[in-house]
Amino acid sequence: MIEVGDLTFTYPSARRSSAVEPTLKGLTFSIAEGEIFGFLGPSGAGKSTTQNILIRLLRGYAGSARVMGRELSAWTPDYYAHIGVSFELPNHYLKLTARENLTYFAALYGNTVHDPEAVLDWVGLANSADKRVSDFSKGMKIRLNLARSIVHRPRILFLDEPTSGLDPVNSERIRQLVLRLAHEGTTVFVTTHNMQLADRLCDRVAFVADGRISAIDAPGALKKKYGRRVVRVEHSNGGDIHAEEFPLDALGSNARFQELIANGPSIQSIHSEEATLDAIFIDVTGQELTA
Ligand code: ADP
Repeated sequence: MIEVGDLTFTYPSARRSSAVEPTLKGLTFSIAEGEIFGFLGPSGAGKSTTQNILIRLLRGYAGSARVMGRELSAWTPDYYAHIGVSFELPNHYLKLTARENLTYFAALYGNTVHDPEAVLDWVGLANSADKRVSDFSKGMKIRLNLARSIVHRPRILFLDEPTSGLDPVNSERIRQLVLRLAHEGTTVFVTTHNMQLADRLCDRVAFVADGRISAIDAPGALKKKYGRRVVRVEHSNGGDIHAEEFPLDALGSNARFQELIANGPSIQSIHSEEATLDAIFIDVTGQELTA
């Protein structure tokens, strides 16, 4: 659905200076139909720049970026009938109700659209359909934004930090909705620095730092590849607590581990260390995600 090869981009303001490095330094990835692809990286990594190129807001890239079989530079404005975009800052008609906003935007497309009523229900706004958007909370506006981005049944959905600003119940509702849309064939490109979300939502993730991709794989495969298979034992002899780690693979023949186990009462806790995507990101890119 999306094929990007050696994508490079330098902002026009920076092009005048020959010493400046490009913002995107040769990105290559492809996304299959119905796949949820996460673009993960800290602030300034180049996520928005990539997304803005993919939605044709930024032109003048080098390399190739083909969407639905056609180079982005060759697409015409009918591209927007095929894609849905939900970015962080919602802009709605504040004097109109949620239903009116959605009906208005749905009417802009020639597509067969979803019933606005149903879409409001999917994002948990069915009971607020006739409320003016000026009376909406920030979280409600974010959900209305998502509703707007899917009402015209786009084949590709671009999401930027989709659960940021939402409470846990609505975050989960949105996650389930995106999973369902993808299951029904929508391709989803999501940018985030929230690794928990990426882990629970994405089929594959790309680690992005400094305009480069350091790894692309399924979250589970990354954990398997980079994860530490160790068990951590905390023990104490009445005083300070000490922690020791042992490789999981040779646990049965590890004399020190056996010794600790034999002295049960001193053990405070035993945990296998699950690798988190956050930790793997630091290992792979040398950067923190929360930056
Ligand atoms: P992210 O979305 O991962 O936080 P961005 O794509 O927004 O990262 O930014 C990547 C780099 O490009 C940053 O160094 C940022 O300062 C720079 N940048 C972003 N927008 C512009 C712009 N309009 N003009 C010049 N530089 C920009």
